[in-house]
Amino acid sequence: MLLEINNLHAGIDGKEILRGIDLRVNAGEIHAIMGPNGSGKSTLSSVLVGNPAFEVTQGSVTFQGKDLLELAPEERSCEGIFLSFQYPVEIPGVSMVNFMRAAVNARREYRGEEPVSATDFLKLMREKREIVELDNRLMNRSVNEGFSGGEKKRNEIFQMAMLEPTLAILDETDSGLDIDALRIVAKGVNLLRRPDNATIVITHYQRLLDYIKPDVVHVLYHGRIVKTGGPELALELEKKGYDWIKEQND
Ligand code: ADP
Ligand code: MG
Ligand code: MG
Repeated sequence: MLLEINNLHAGIDGKEILRGIDLRVNAGEIHAIMGPNGSGKSTLSSVLVGNPAFEVTQGSVTFQGKDLLELAPEERSCEGIFLSFQYPVEIPGVSMVNFMRAAVNARREYRGEEPVSATDFLKLMREKREIVELDNRLMNRSVNEGFSGGEKKRNEIFQMAMLEPTLAILDETDSGLDIDALRIVAKGVNLLRRPDNATIVITHYQRLLDYIKPDVVHVLYHGRIVKTGGPELALELEKKGYDWIKEQND
């Protein structure tokens, strides 16, 4: 078992948002988490990466046998957890090249390895850049600054490809993407799939799941996983919407 979440409760400013999440993810699997707006999908991803704005009040999260909630956000990242944001942040004054080198080397240092050589790093950058069809000129620009919406999203997948996470969480990476960008994002995710890693795709719509085939689909509603099934569940939601989920659980 890669990730095991038991009875997770979390919130912000004393307001409970996650109300007892149970989730198990095995290595090699792709899970989709779907659900209406405001159900707690982004809160769950924030809690998993250790966003300090959120407070965990109950429950446990075990990642590769370690108590994830005990680890600082940087440690979680070095342990192989990666979150791609719905709204990627711009980092003025920090070039893509320097940002990625720092991120790659932080992980190597954490594992007791030497920093990556300049040649290997450039080779890695080129190889991963080509997967997401990201222009080389962007690599000398500040992170996400002046990038188009599609470039920002593809850049998220590029960063994921560079870091080769053990658990990747994509939080609505598909929102606002045209079909070409969607296809590229999906290609990146599919190429990075290995027997020893896993991906959680958070999405409001079924569309991305035409390109990334999930093994398991969950519905998150009002802070709980209220339904779990196979890929057919995503199709059912596409057809019927979320009203029946709400009716069953209100
Ligand atoms: P989803 O990603 O499923 O749309 P969110 O996790 O973003 O849902 O939000 C779940 C609930 O938590 C919503 O009611 C939202 O208003 C609330 N919430 C999320 N983030 C914050 C925050 N920073 N401060 C206050 N409330 C928040
Ligand atoms: Mg939302
Ligand atoms: Mg969200």
